[in-house]
This record gives sequence, C-alpha cells and structure tokens, in this order.
Amino acid sequence: MKPDPPMRMTELERALEPFEKKLQAQERFRRRLGVKEVDQPTYERYIVGPIERFDSRRNIFAVMKPENPIGAEFREEFERRRHADAYSRPLPYAEVDPEDRPAQALNEAVWRLCREYHPASLPVKPLEGRFAFDGPDAAARMSRLIKKVAMWLGADLVRITEVDQRWVYADREVPHKYAIVCAVSHNRAMNRTAPSHVSGLGVADTYSRLKCITTQLADFICQMGYDAAYRETLGSNPDIIMVPMAIDAGIGEFARTGRVLSPEFGLNMRLKAVTTDLPLAVDKPISFGTHEFCMACENCAKFCPPRAVPFGEPTETPDSIFHNPGYRKWYVRPDRCLMFWAANRKKWITCGGRCIAVCPWNQPMNPFHNSVRWMAIHSSAPVKKALVWADNKFYPPKKLRGEYED
Ligand code: SF4
Ligand code: SF4
Repeated sequence: MKPDPPMRMTELERALEPFEKKLQAQERFRRRLGVKEVDQPTYERYIVGPIERFDSRRNIFAVMKPENPIGAEFREEFERRRHADAYSRPLPYAEVDPEDRPAQALNEAVWRLCREYHPASLPVKPLEGRFAFDGPDAAARMSRLIKKVAMWLGADLVRITEVDQRWVYADREVPHKYAIVCAVSHNRAMNRTAPSHVSGLGVADTYSRLKCITTQLADFICQMGYDAAYRETLGSNPDIIMVPMAIDAGIGEFARTGRVLSPEFGLNMRLKAVTTDLPLAVDKPISFGTHEFCMACENCAKFCPPRAVPFGEPTETPDSIFHNPGYRKWYVRPDRCLMFWAANRKKWITCGGRCIAVCPWNQPMNPFHNSVRWMAIHSSAPVKKALVWADNKFYPPKKLRGEYED
C-alpha cells in the first residue's frame, strides 16, 4: 500500500507564517550572538548532591497562607510591619501616598486576571477526533505549530522540553511528558522605575498575559485531542519550579538573582508553562556564559535594597527554610524580598524587580546593544567588568529616597 502523501500546510499554518518568520529571526539572532545549544543544562554545575523534590509549602507565597504549618514566625513579623496578613490585598487609599494612587489602582485592575482566573482545562476531544500530523517529522511540525500559536497568543519566547520530575513540587503530580515554556517580557520603561507601584504594573501585566496565553494554549491542545494543563510556579496552586524547567527548554541560563537570564531579554521577563502528552520535538538547553558574566557583575546584589541577592561566589550553604540543599549556587532570600516589597513605607504589592532593572542584560534589542551583548558573551572578565561599569554610568540606577526600612 502506498504511504499517504505528507499533509499539506493547514490553513492555520499559512495564517501563522509571520510567526514562523519571527521564530526564524530569533534562531538567527542566537546563532549570530554565538549562543550554543548544549546537551546538558548548564545548571548541572550547581548540583553537588542528591536533590529532593521541593515541598510547595516552603514557597514564600505559600508561606503567607494562614493555614500553612510552615512559616508562622515570618507571617507574624509581616503582619506586625504591614498591619495586614496578606501581601497582595490592596491597602486603604488613606495609607497610600496620593501620587501613588493611580498606579496602585491600575495594579489592582491588572493583577486580578492572574490572581483570580484559575480555570480547569477544556475537556479533551475524544480519540476519534484527535488531530495529528503524519510522517517522520510529525513531532517537529507539531512543535512548530505550538510555538507559532503561543506567539500569536502573545508569548515573546516559546521553547519545549521534557518534564524533569525533579522540578515538580514534592506534593504535586504532573503526569505529562512535555512542557511548553512561555516567556513574556516586562515593559522596560515601567521596570526601570523599580521599586515602585509602576514597576509592579509591569509584573502584573506579564503574569496576567501569561495566564491568558497558557490557559488558551492548554485548551487548544485539549481540543486537538490531547491532555494539557497550564502550570505556574507562583499563584494559588503552583505545580512546577519554573526556573530549571525553563533552563532545560533553552529559554536562558541560571543567574545570580536565582532567575533565568535569556540572551534577548536578560532577566526582564516572566514565565509560565503548559504541560501535555501531545507528542512534541524538544529544544536543547543553551550556553552563553551567564555564570562568568554574573561573576564579573554584582549589580543585582549591590542594588537590592534588602540584600536578598548574594554577593561573591555561589555557596553550598542554604540559610533558610526556603532552600533545598544539594546545590552550590547563589541562594536568594525570598523572605527578605517579600518583606521589603510589602512592609516598607510605600507598601508596594511587589518591588517590581530592581534587580532586573539594574541588570546590564536589560537593554533593548538594537544593533548597538546587540553588539554589546556579543561582547558580554565573548570577552574576558576585565572587559565584562568594564561593560558593567559603562552600563551603570549610562543607565544609572534610580536613586532611592529612604522609601523603605531595612
Ligand atoms: S525583587 Fe527587589 S527586593 Fe526582591 S531581590 Fe529583586 S531587588 Fe531585591
Ligand atoms: S545584574 Fe549582573 S550579576 Fe545580576 S543577574 Fe544580571 S548580570 Fe548577573
């Protein structure tokens, strides 16, 4: 029997052609910068012992739940300093400086989608209605379609990996084989104001948009006949630790702030994922010298007001309940970070990432900054230090005016 001819391009694929071009441009950009695709994620260098899966109740946002048996001491201190038991509850207007009221009002409007929208995925279409490409490149073609749909929905970066069960919270189950990791970048102008109510808006906007993108993408996959669910690392119901999952997918590498640093956006992005049993071709992790750059640059540590980001070399000593042992890495203190956001005089919902705003990788994509990106990857440690110095000189961090208590 003659095999079926390969499936012609579907009408949807034709409509998404501009996103195929965008994907190709992203791939060319990474090649030009000298970003390497590697077989093993570069976080392997930080793993020194056996790793236990992390208990989701030790996530700092879960610690804020009154019913959590972990973290009562932190909650008490938080309540004493903020005069409220929730970091995300809006303060009465009387407690917010008049000049900050419009930004806080917009914060509340923009955060709500992310905080309150937790829909279950649509039912999976029965087997007989399932859509599949055929031929030896079926998985690669499906991956491409998924990426283009995610970009059309609004993602800036989309990469795919197999789910590594080490990165699923110990008390959760993710039965799917694949994770589609989506990144959306913050509005840079808003982020530059961090810490402020305005920089918090950039965060609220990305998380709410990611919530839309990932729920719609999961529904799309279910409607094609496969199981899928959106996943988050924060929010009310976190399932996976997004940082290593995104590194596995090749979004970026591990940075001093404990976040993922990508060649395109630096730290200036947020992440969510969809997991699925839809057969997909996976991407490789990447390597472009983030560890070496972070060793030459300590901007995030220097400019983090509550000293939540460590200076110097990575260490093997976790110093709080928010960390697992088994790593030699930069252990960031989420308790200091959250306390600073919410219990300072301004009572922001989030600091909005001053550590992100001062990162030299947080610059626009244009020919000048792209050549600086190339130098940041390919230069020696003294040149990297000079680049950090120049970044601080030409883009000086916003001055803080005693708006917070340490
Ligand atoms: S978000 Fe703000 S407080 Fe938290 S680590 Fe970054 S700079 Fe520090
Ligand atoms: S500010 Fe510097 S040290 Fe911190 S993540 Fe960015 S490059 Fe690394």
